[in-house]
Amino acid sequence: MKLSGCVSLITGGARGIGKEIALTFAREGSDVAITDLNLEGAEKTKQEVERLGRKGIALKVDVSRFDDVTSVIKKVLDEFSKIDILVNNAGITRDQLLIRMREPDWDRVMATNLKGVFNFTRSVAREMIKNRKGRIINIASVVGITGNIGQSNYAASKGGVIIFTKSVSQELASRGITVNTIAPGLIDTEMTREFTETLRESLLKRIPLQRMGHPEDVAKVALFLAGEESSYITGQVIHVDGGMVM
Ligand code: NDP
Repeated sequence: MKLSGCVSLITGGARGIGKEIALTFAREGSDVAITDLNLEGAEKTKQEVERLGRKGIALKVDVSRFDDVTSVIKKVLDEFSKIDILVNNAGITRDQLLIRMREPDWDRVMATNLKGVFNFTRSVAREMIKNRKGRIINIASVVGITGNIGQSNYAASKGGVIIFTKSVSQELASRGITVNTIAPGLIDTEMTREFTETLRESLLKRIPLQRMGHPEDVAKVALFLAGEESSYITGQVIHVDGGMVM
């Protein structure tokens, strides 16, 4: 098993990509802390982790609230004594053309998608520095590279995650910690099931591999970045998008 004896913390682990990463890591031997706004969903992921023979803990937290994040991380450390792998996955969209975008839509997306990554990374990095070992994996998006009509808030937040990754990876490399980003394209989750059929069809036309991605496609790359095989990779953006952006 690739993550035997490891402890992972996944944000937004109640469903979608975060849940799949939690279960993939558990199958490879990691105990998993699942955090989410949706405690009921996080509990269900925890139960599945335990059915795979690993320890789990489910905690409710809004990633945008610094003090709440700090106390959740303390609870995880009380339970597991260490955190080897952090996956900053929680994210939201509030799509709207710029001239119709309301200030709360901008603020909420930035607070969740970008500040949330800072909040968790800031606290967990302290622990990883003590252990001189760690893996941080941030989930951005291809629109953080290309931009997108109707997603100026989301694209700016994900572009921010990419450049945050590059900065922090340089700060933490000498402490044995790698920091990388995954940029998914169009992945079949509840987030994208809300898209209209017309939007899904038009996006599919832009994917050379001619299908939507599955959460497993992202989880397999997260596993690679969490494990030993990627020990010489840091500060990178790995696209998981069927060739959508080259
Ligand atoms: P989902 O909406 O299916 O799942 C996101 C999870 O994060 C939900 O459980 C949600 O809880 C939780 N969450 C939202 N806001 C917060 C918060 N403030 N604090 C804690 N938890 C929160 O999304 P996906 O699985 O599709 O996406 C996961 C990540 O991948 C996101 O960062 C997304 O931007 C990114 N991504 C997804 C793509 C896709 O095509 N699906 C493409 C590119 C990137 P609740 O349900 O209560 O809101």
